[in-house]
Amino acid sequence: MTEPTDLPNAPTEAPDADAERDEVRKAIRAICAKYDVDYWRRVDAEKAYPAEFLATVGEAGYFGTLIAPEYGGLGLGAGVASVVVEEINRAGGDAAIVNAQMAICGTLERAGTEEQKQRYLPKVATGECKFLTVAATEPDSGADMSHLNSTARRDGDDWILDAQKVLISLAEVADVMILLVKTSEGATTFLLEMAEVRGRCEIRPIDLIANRMTTTLFIDGLRVPDSARLGPPGGGLKGLMGGFSVRRALAASESIGNGRFFLDRSLEHAKTRRTFDRLIGSNQGVQYPLAQAYGRLEAADLMRWDAVRLIDAKKDAGGRSALAKVLASEAAWEAARAALTTFGGWGLAGEYHIERKLRDATVFVFNNMLNSYVAERVLGLPKAF
Ligand SMILES: Cc1cc2nc3c(=O)[nH]c(=O)nc-3n(C[C@H](O)[C@H](O)[C@H](O)COP(=O)(O)OP(=O)(O)OC[C@H]3O[C@@H](n4cnc5c(N)ncnc54)[C@H](O)[C@@H]3O)c2cc1C
Repeated sequence: MTEPTDLPNAPTEAPDADAERDEVRKAIRAICAKYDVDYWRRVDAEKAYPAEFLATVGEAGYFGTLIAPEYGGLGLGAGVASVVVEEINRAGGDAAIVNAQMAICGTLERAGTEEQKQRYLPKVATGECKFLTVAATEPDSGADMSHLNSTARRDGDDWILDAQKVLISLAEVADVMILLVKTSEGATTFLLEMAEVRGRCEIRPIDLIANRMTTTLFIDGLRVPDSARLGPPGGGLKGLMGGFSVRRALAASESIGNGRFFLDRSLEHAKTRRTFDRLIGSNQGVQYPLAQAYGRLEAADLMRWDAVRLIDAKKDAGGRSALAKVLASEAAWEAARAALTTFGGWGLAGEYHIERKLRDATVFVFNNMLNSYVAERVLGLPKAF
């Protein structure tokens, strides 16, 4: 197969790209070379946790990409983190767990006490502590996190938690989870140590299109000490929202990686597969969707770089990161369609890996709330109903 860098959709260098970012790109490619598409096909088919791959990423220190050095991390910022997840997906892997481990602890780093940060962050950076999950979504309040039914009430120095959460990723494997509930002061977050909690709550798998280890989580009268509270009572949404720009930029980068995977594979196929005595890539009906998908991915990539530039400069990246996520997820979706046109029926066969990555790409296509954010916050339109 042609080296990805020989292809015209090789990663665009950010205007401010630096040697560090290039080094990380090379290092992640080297790791991914050891875990090829057949590894990921097996993990997907078995709905398994990719433990060996994650151990290798952990040994290289990349779980700490966003964590400050004083807590054992690399402190390399969102630009580097975006390269990490992009390259994993571009190689045909699934960066969801690496993304979660790098980014979810941002809420702890911003809102946690010094004791909480010292206890967890160094172990998150190495991967020893799997910090993979925020449990926010509820049966009756999906996109709308301000209407929670799950509660925490004070009982002496402790809290009693009652929660029903749905579509929660990785609850079965996480060591620590952030739980969002309502208190008399408003939405509040707690850190749950899952080894203690798992036997005292109910976790049921949900069968989903992609391997996200998604579950429902029922907690009934769980007592936790006040030291498990993350941030002030009533400050839960603010604490979580502080990380939204990074989460969107990483989702955009994962999508760009997915889109480039579709393009890399499609270009190789279009340049080698012959029907009607000619290469299928010489047909305009195959060329144009690929050219359009390439253009959309490149445009989304520029928006991604602008978003991470703002994040790393500690400026407001709300609008830019929302646009990057919307554009990149739609560009990847377009690239998946172009791949199906290029591969024909073989695009649906597991051995070509297009159908698996197509399923991975679906989890990013929900963009209504981001479009709503752009309409209201960036364009100043009235709140929509
Ligand atoms: C793979 C995957 C993993 C997930 N992991 C987690 C997790 O770990 N933790 C967690 O808490 N949640 C998780 N979720 C849940 C995810 O955050 C929710 O799916 C999302 O918040 C929307 O909630 P909902 O699916 O109940 O949709 P609903 O809230 O029922 O909305 C349905 C549709 O209507 C649209 N909609 C709703 N209100 C508006 C509005 N005001 N304006 C415009 N459109 C609107 C939504 O955008 C959506 O497209 C996960 C979801 C998926 C698919």
